[in-house]
Amino acid sequence: MGRPFLAFGIAAALLGSCPLAANAQYFGRNKVQYDHTDVRVLATEHFDLYYPREQLSAALTAGRLAERWYDRLSKALQHTLKRRQPLILYASHRTFEQTNVWSGLIDERTGGFTESRKRRIVIPFASTLAETDHVLGHEIVHAFQYDIASESKAPLDVPLWFVEGMAEFLTLGPHDPLTDMWMRDAAARETLPSIRDLSSPRFFPYRWGAALWTFLTNQYGADLPARALRAKRDARRRLEADDLIRCVRCQKMILATETRCPKCGVHFQGQAYEFEKSADRPRSTRPFWITIVAIMLLIVFTSQVFR
Ligand SMILES: [Zn+2]
Ligand SMILES: [Zn+2]
Repeated sequence: MGRPFLAFGIAAALLGSCPLAANAQYFGRNKVQYDHTDVRVLATEHFDLYYPREQLSAALTAGRLAERWYDRLSKALQHTLKRRQPLILYASHRTFEQTNVWSGLIDERTGGFTESRKRRIVIPFASTLAETDHVLGHEIVHAFQYDIASESKAPLDVPLWFVEGMAEFLTLGPHDPLTDMWMRDAAARETLPSIRDLSSPRFFPYRWGAALWTFLTNQYGADLPARALRAKRDARRRLEADDLIRCVRCQKMILATETRCPKCGVHFQGQAYEFEKSADRPRSTRPFWITIVAIMLLIVFTSQVFR
């Protein structure tokens, strides 16, 4: 979980739970699949819902809710998904925990997840319809985030509050009582964190991120999440566009993201492109040779004159 963009994939998978705890793999513990269900597929306009056969009416409801979210979110994020969205539904949390879509163990606090590879949304029916609706909306936000990000080759380099806060903000809206309570409490105690502080695991990215997005959209407009996602993606794309740069030492063409030159072996403190842009990078050796030649010419010249 060291790199922020890796967290996008994993944390996107977890709603309301600690990503590290839920992602832990215990030696000797394999996930047991003890329930076997007959799975059916329901196709709506944008989704393919996989549901247990006996849950048709619940699946129809989920399909309607999913389409409603699609409508809202495609407007909010100014995007339409490039392909049909798979949505895997489980009748209960117990059967959800046995999912083979993700090999990691799922704890009881995980409300649902969206896996990054095939971008499947996996959720159990929650105890209330409102809760199912919220989890569904939250995961569909992640599907949109992945789809927008996929236009560059690498995942977005963004902190958790950015993706999780956005998913909460777009599904709960700007007036969530729980988020408001946290903020009022922090404001009263004068413990409101800075944006930089939000990358720390001390701050639950879902609530603090949602509060920050509320503030940011008030300041910069309701389309900010859409613009921010595109800006992040395009920053990645630009980096990919000039993928190859010259090694500052050997001048051979190498990948901009390299931390060590494969040709001459020089280590960069960070990635090669940062080093290249850095003002204090070592100068090319060429001016040094010019200086030597100039001195030699001067010596030859003066020795000619004073012979
Ligand atoms: Zn999430
Ligand atoms: Zn080199």
